[in-house]
Amino acid sequence: MKDAFDIIVVGGGHAGTEAAAAAARVGARTALVTHTFATVGEMSCNPAIGGLGKGHLVREIDALDGLMGGAADAAGIQFRLLNRSKGPAVQGPRAQADRKLYRQAIQAAIRAQPGLDVLEGQVDDLRISDGRVAGVELADGRMLAAGAVVLTTGTFLRGLIHIGAERIAAGRVDEPPVVRLAERLMALELPLGRLKTGTPARLHAGSIDWSGLEEQPGDDPPTPFSFLTEAITTRQVPCHITTTTPATHQIIRDNLSRSAMYSGQIEGVGPRYCPSIEDKVVRFADRDHHQVFLEPEGLDDDTIYPNGVSTSLPADVQLAFLRTLPGLEAVTFKKPGYAIEYDYVDPRALKPSLELNALPGLFLAGQINGTTGYEEAGAQGLIAGLNAARQAAGQDAVVLSRADAYTGVMIDDLVTRGVAEPYRMFTSRAEYRLKLRADNADQRLTPVGLKAGLVGPARAQAFAAKSEALAVATDMLEARAMTPTAAAAHNITLKQDGRKRTAFEMLSYPHVTLGDLTRIWPELGALPSSIAQQVSIDANYASYVRRQDADVAQLRRDEALEIPGNFAYAAIAGLSNELRQKLEAHRPANVAQAGRIDGMTPAALVLIAAHLKKADAKASA
Ligand code: FAD
Repeated sequence: MKDAFDIIVVGGGHAGTEAAAAAARVGARTALVTHTFATVGEMSCNPAIGGLGKGHLVREIDALDGLMGGAADAAGIQFRLLNRSKGPAVQGPRAQADRKLYRQAIQAAIRAQPGLDVLEGQVDDLRISDGRVAGVELADGRMLAAGAVVLTTGTFLRGLIHIGAERIAAGRVDEPPVVRLAERLMALELPLGRLKTGTPARLHAGSIDWSGLEEQPGDDPPTPFSFLTEAITTRQVPCHITTTTPATHQIIRDNLSRSAMYSGQIEGVGPRYCPSIEDKVVRFADRDHHQVFLEPEGLDDDTIYPNGVSTSLPADVQLAFLRTLPGLEAVTFKKPGYAIEYDYVDPRALKPSLELNALPGLFLAGQINGTTGYEEAGAQGLIAGLNAARQAAGQDAVVLSRADAYTGVMIDDLVTRGVAEPYRMFTSRAEYRLKLRADNADQRLTPVGLKAGLVGPARAQAFAAKSEALAVATDMLEARAMTPTAAAAHNITLKQDGRKRTAFEMLSYPHVTLGDLTRIWPELGALPSSIAQQVSIDANYASYVRRQDADVAQLRRDEALEIPGNFAYAAIAGLSNELRQKLEAHRPANVAQAGRIDGMTPAALVLIAAHLKKADAKASA
C-alpha cells in the first residue's frame, strides 16, 4: 500500500469529506483517514441540511463543486424555502434529510472521486519535520507521509458525553473519543478550549399519537440546493408540530439540579442559538410553551427526531417530560438525548487560509475550530482542503473576502474574532447580504472555483450555458426602453421625470414584473423561466449591489487611514457606547485594525473614516 500522499485529511465528517474531495479535485493525491467508512457523511445531530444563513453556505459549497448540495438533494424528504415572504437575500433553503440516503450520497461521491483514497483507522499523532507537518501516525502504528495535513476531528477530541450525572468518554454516542491527538495538540501549545453541544432523545414513531398534531407539508415544488439539480425525485413526507406544556416546564425546573449542564458538571460553553430545553425553560421563564418539530429521520426508518428539546437531563426525566407533550403521552425512545463536551482550537491561531500560524502545513476545519453545524464545517473543509493542496503544489492560498461569500464572512469572523461559544452562521453576520444571496452563489463563486481548478466539466458546462443565457436576457432587457408616460399607457407607474428607463431598470421596481414587460415586448416571453426568475432578482437588487460595491471599494481604500493615538471617539455621534469603549481600550492604529475589533460593524467603520477625513481636511485647510 502506498503510504505517501500530497494531502492527508483526518476525519470523514462534513468538513473532512469536503476537504478531501476538494484537494483531490484540484489534483492532489489525497488520503482521507477516518475511523470507519460506514460513518462517512454521518449527521451527528439533526437530520436536516440548510436553513437561514446555513442554506447560503450549502449553495456556496455547491458553487465550488462541493458535495453537500447534491447529497442533500438526493436525500431530502421535505424541502422548505425559509423566509419565503421576505426578499431573496435572506431566504434560506432547508431540507429534512433521510440520514441513510445522505450518508449513501456522500459515500458514493467520495468513492467516485479520482485521486482520493479512504483509509480506515485513528490518527493519534502528527509527524513533524523541519518545523512543519510531514505526515500522521495511526493508532495501529502505520505512518503516512504528506505535504500537508487537514484535521477535521469534529466533536471527538477528548469528547465526553453527559446524560444527567452519567459521563461517558466518547466522540459521539457509541464511538470512542480521540485522546492522544488532543494531547499532542496541547503539547504543541495550541490554544485549546472546551465547548459543548447537545442532542435530543430519538423517539419511536409508532409510540406517537399523530392524530391531533399539526401537519407541516414541504414546498411544492421543492427548491433544490444544487445548481445542477433539475428536480427532486425522492419521495417527500410532512413533518408534524407539537409543543412543550406548563407541565413539561415544571418537570424540567424540578430536575434542574440533575441536568449535567446545571449541576456544574460541564465546563464547556454551549450554542446560545441552539439551546437545550433546560436553557430555554430557564432563560425564557415567562414562556409556557416552546414549539417542537417531530422530524422523521428517514423514509424507511421509524425514528423521530424531536427538534427543539436537546437535553442533558437523566434518561428517566427525559421520558417524563417528553410524555407531557401533546401526542407524546405514551412515547418511548430509542436513545436518550445527551450533551457532549470536546476540545477545540481557538481559531485566532489560524491564517485566513485555515493553516495554523504555529505549525506550517497543518490546516484545521469544522467543529475543531469552534463552529457548530454541518454547513459551517463543510464550507471550511472545502477551503482548507483547497488551500492545503495549493500549498503542497507551491501555489498561493485562495481567500474569500467578506464581500465575496458567507464562507468568507465565517472564516474572517473565526480567525480575527475567535469564538466565545459554538459559532453558527446567520444572515445578519454578513454586511453585504444583498449581494451574497443564495440564488447567485454560482455567479459569485463558480468563476473562483473554475480558476482554482475545483470545478469539474459537468458544472463548468452548465455554468457557461447559464451565464450565456443570463447575458442574453440582460442584453435584451437593456436594449428595450420607455419613458414614464409610455409606461403609464401600459398601466406601469414610474416616477414621472421624463427619463427613459431600460426594461432592466423597470424590472428593478418591486411592483414591475417580467410578465408586465412581456405585455409590452412579447419577445421577452421566450426567456426560459429559470433565467427570467434569476434576471428579475438580479434587476431587483442591482442598485443596492452597486451601492454596496461602492461601499466595499471605499472601505478598502479607507482601511489604510491612520487613527491618531488620542483620537476622540466620544466626538463621533452614532457610535454605540459598547464600540466606543472597545475602541478606547484597543486604540487601533488604523481603520483596518479597528475593523478587527470584536463586534465592529461596517457602519461604525464608515463613521470613523468620515471623521478622520473631516479632521484631515480641517487640518490642511
Ligand atoms: P464530525 O461530523 O463530527 O466528523 C468528525 C469525523 O472525524 C468522524 O467521522 C470521526 O470518526 C472522525 N475522526 C475524528 N478524529 C479522528 C481521528 N483522530 N482519526 C480518524 N478519524 C477521526 N450542530 C448543529 O448545528 N446544531 C446542533 O444542535 C448540533 N448538535 C449536536 C449534538 C451532538 C451530540 C453532536 C455530536 C453534534 C452536534 N452538532 C450540532 C454538530 C454537528 O454534528 C457538527 O457541527 C458537524 O458534524 C461537524 O462536522 P465535522 O466535520 O467538523 O465533524
